[in-house]
Amino acid sequence: MTYDIEKIRGQFPILQREINGKSLVYFDNAATTQKPLSVIERVSAYYRNENCNIHRGVHFLSQEATQEFEDAREKVRGFINAGRKEEIIFTKGTTEAINLVAYSFGRNILGQGDEVLITALEHHSNLVPWQVLCREKNAFLRVVPINNKGEVVQEAYKKMLGPRTKMVAIGHISNALGTINPVREMIAAAHEKNIPVLVDGAQAASHIKIDVQELDCDFYCFSGHKAYGPMGSGVLFGKTRLLESMDPYQCGGEMVDRVTFEKTTYNELPFKFEAGTPNVESILGLKTALDFMDSLGMDSIGSHEKALLEYGTEQLARDPDITIYGTADRKTSIISFLFKNIHPYDAGIIFDKTGIALRTGNHCAQPVMDRLGISGTIRVSFGAYNTIQEIDRLVESIGMVKKMLG
Ligand code: PMP
Repeated sequence: MTYDIEKIRGQFPILQREINGKSLVYFDNAATTQKPLSVIERVSAYYRNENCNIHRGVHFLSQEATQEFEDAREKVRGFINAGRKEEIIFTKGTTEAINLVAYSFGRNILGQGDEVLITALEHHSNLVPWQVLCREKNAFLRVVPINNKGEVVQEAYKKMLGPRTKMVAIGHISNALGTINPVREMIAAAHEKNIPVLVDGAQAASHIKIDVQELDCDFYCFSGHKAYGPMGSGVLFGKTRLLESMDPYQCGGEMVDRVTFEKTTYNELPFKFEAGTPNVESILGLKTALDFMDSLGMDSIGSHEKALLEYGTEQLARDPDITIYGTADRKTSIISFLFKNIHPYDAGIIFDKTGIALRTGNHCAQPVMDRLGISGTIRVSFGAYNTIQEIDRLVESIGMVKKMLG
């Protein structure tokens, strides 16, 4: 199957927009991807024809919506190759999924003087919940260092897996630098010492094939909105044994079995972790988004984005006024860079004037910036619909930035 980029772009209405009189170049995919028409229409069709609360009614609409919602769960299961549908918990995103695990799992296993191990590459979402938990438990947050290329130092990681380590939480792909961590090996090393591992896959789900059974991770999470799906849709995968051992994260309707004033028993998996009315339309849209990625093939998306990354890196690396941050041997389609003498925020304004949407700042990863000795970067991040011509537009705009501000 050939990768028909024009046909793919044709599925994204927003790419037709002009910003400041220029056709939009959307290079902010690590923050959120755009949505194909099929996803937009799925959400709209739900409200036009199907809107109803799920899991509760005997009437037709409720049963139909419930069936669709549960079909979406099955789709997610297949997409990440989980063994059982009950291991898929819907959340509103990665942040909520990590907080759930920190609260319901971390809290049970962590005692005074114990340790949670993260890496110096983490997004704040995979750092702050653990930091707060450690403070509450008088435990220690340990941080595996990165090298100058933005790779987690594996020898240090192995050494830091100690007798007090009760949990490892690592990003699959860094949103700030694009580094792909060798999570399979890191999980295996932790498991040798019986330490459970959570993988933050927020940046992975739209770029690489995820197989939670092959990874053997204990928890895996991602956000639908970064994978062509709607905002408010997210996934937590957890191994059944662990999910069953955990208390609910939130309490209310749906997560209960029997309620009296004296006592409440909890619903079975996955409902125990899905209190209240979920974002039904977003979850249905997420299913359509996963269908969209499947229709292209994760390998094809990966090859296309690899070509963009190589071309973009080559173009930027040859500019003596630019420094690229994050040069890991294994990277996805993120290029973080700085001009030698121009503030990223000022540059961002000029890029915007030329119709290019990219991101400047610390990318919710302040410790990564501290480690690199900078306050932030300019980040371009590619998706399935980006093109070489758009990278040429970026290079043109870089010329303009230098002319105006250099
Ligand atoms: N982890 C990583 C690596 C991310 O890139 C992000 C989003 N930038 C998150 C977690 C949080 O995702 P969300 O805001 O969708 O919950």
